[in-house]
Amino acid sequence: MKRAPDDLLGAHVSTQGGVAEAPARGNAIGASAIQVFTKTPNQWRESMVRDADVAAFRAALAASGIRAVVSHDSYLINLASPDQPLRERSIAAFSGELVRCRTLGIPWVVSHPGNYIDDRAEGLARNARAYAQCLTAVAGEVGVLLEGTAGAGTALGSTFEELRALRDALPAGLQARVEFCLDTAHLHAAGYDVATALEEVWERFDREVGLTHLKCLHLNDSKGATGSHLDRHQWIGEGTIGPEPFRRIMRDPRLASVIKIIETPKGGDPVRHDRRMLRRLRAYARGPRNNARVPQTVGRA
Ligand SMILES: [Zn+2]
Ligand SMILES: [Zn+2]
Repeated sequence: MKRAPDDLLGAHVSTQGGVAEAPARGNAIGASAIQVFTKTPNQWRESMVRDADVAAFRAALAASGIRAVVSHDSYLINLASPDQPLRERSIAAFSGELVRCRTLGIPWVVSHPGNYIDDRAEGLARNARAYAQCLTAVAGEVGVLLEGTAGAGTALGSTFEELRALRDALPAGLQARVEFCLDTAHLHAAGYDVATALEEVWERFDREVGLTHLKCLHLNDSKGATGSHLDRHQWIGEGTIGPEPFRRIMRDPRLASVIKIIETPKGGDPVRHDRRMLRRLRAYARGPRNNARVPQTVGRA
């Protein structure tokens, strides 16, 4: 087997046919990290992970060049909801996700904070209580990465202050199991100027939360304008963020150990497009091969 790249770069890959299919899909696109759904993300139906699935997944992972796996929780889950039946259902589903990940040996579940619906402060408190309940119920080697959101509607977690507040509201003993994931498209939509002032964004995150708590990055360009709260992903370098911020991210030594996952459009051909995006990002990481070869500015006639 060709030696896998020693970065932690990859994509969200399909688990159709079972979670054990995912590592090979990661290999097919040249990934060294993958993100998966451990169940159908837009259905409440809970799936059980059988012993055979666990063994198959672990074997497939060991045989692959994949060095890091994260899961993403279901879109239906709203741990901040004022509606008690929905919140309870969400707690059950999120706990189920934590159990599946612990069983599979997936260390992190990327989770969108909930929608508060009625009152922001109440919603944040409900959200924190629910995370605490789930983490307490499922002890052990699995944690949560709170993902910064685009801030559409009543979505919590679109500011660094709110992400920190959510973690701070958890019992001290559980906080070590809660870290963070940032998505470049969400940051951009939420009003953080990643396109032209990326370093300031990192400085603000470092001040509010701490860069050492950043464990995962979702690398997506955006179709929406900054501050639009529109969560529309675009191919890397081809959207309103543009190539330069991604170049900087790929070369930033502070982010070298952060898992980097693309969630860019798959255009009906995930292998082709995901491969293309990962190649592009790795070219950014390498930088120009030879500065002398950078084309000279051509004088305007
Ligand atoms: Zn997400
Ligand atoms: Zn994301």
